[in-house]
Amino acid sequence: MISPNNLQEFLKWLPGADLINIFVRQRDHCKTIIGKSDLIILLDFNQPERLGEIQDLLLNSRAKKVIIDHHLNPKDFVDIIISDPSKCSTSELVYELLASLSNKPFITREIAEVLYVGIITDTGNFEHGNYSGQTLRIVADILDAGIERERILELVYNNFSEDRMRLQGFALYKRMTVIPEYHTAYVYLTKSDLVSFNNVKGDTEGFVNMPLSIRGIRFAALFLEKDNFIKLSFRSKGNFPVNEFAAEFFSGGGHLNASGGEYRDTLENTIEYFLKVLKENFARYNAK
Ligand code: 5GP
Repeated sequence: MISPNNLQEFLKWLPGADLINIFVRQRDHCKTIIGKSDLIILLDFNQPERLGEIQDLLLNSRAKKVIIDHHLNPKDFVDIIISDPSKCSTSELVYELLASLSNKPFITREIAEVLYVGIITDTGNFEHGNYSGQTLRIVADILDAGIERERILELVYNNFSEDRMRLQGFALYKRMTVIPEYHTAYVYLTKSDLVSFNNVKGDTEGFVNMPLSIRGIRFAALFLEKDNFIKLSFRSKGNFPVNEFAAEFFSGGGHLNASGGEYRDTLENTIEYFLKVLKENFARYNAK
């Protein structure tokens, strides 16, 4: 297994996490693995650009390539695409694939644990509307495999650093703007904000969802200042298609209600541009 980047803290305890090779830390080793592979299975993304530095290595590799994914609009750069955007998570799809390949019970406690974490993190612990009866039937099998649900919830959700908790408070108190007439709220964090709270990767995960808890807000955006660009995250409620918004204005994509993109300008100009395109296009998106 190869992950392009370091695993976030709340995932490091997962069974098998220690077997994952981290590309940014073990470049040569990962290049060798990719070079030797006959078959490469790509999980939970569907566009080669998402691979960053691994993209060229992968595209040039002789291996057969298979995508297993649940995002919209897969790009055709592999041999087989197993894609179903109606699934809440790639974990749900992986469960179904395993079930269809085996007529014997295949689920061990370890498999159940990793699939459960995949499902709870992609559904916001069953808060988002993206799961189905089938998801819950799978969760029933997962629970029957004897996972310690409380321990997992503790490890995934109650595992913040003090800095992260304070950064969240700061972001809401000092960096959030609400625009009631556009049912929109956005939060931004500068590089120095992040430094002053000793930010580590993953600390801002979930921040973009918070403004959606404000009555009347249907569209939320998060702007994070990076070295040469601004990273954006979008979330929405109902039919407001933030994947289309991200693709049209911020070179991005994702799901109907959760997407992201980027913009190569200063934070100030990015926010100004966001407000301009929001004003010009809100009615069109809100009517979808
Ligand atoms: P997040 O806001 O959690 O970073 O991303 C939410 C979703 O948006 C992810 O599931 C991912 O599919 C998509 N996404 C985020 N950033 C980008 C981007 O730069 N390009 C594309 N195509 N999708 C993105």
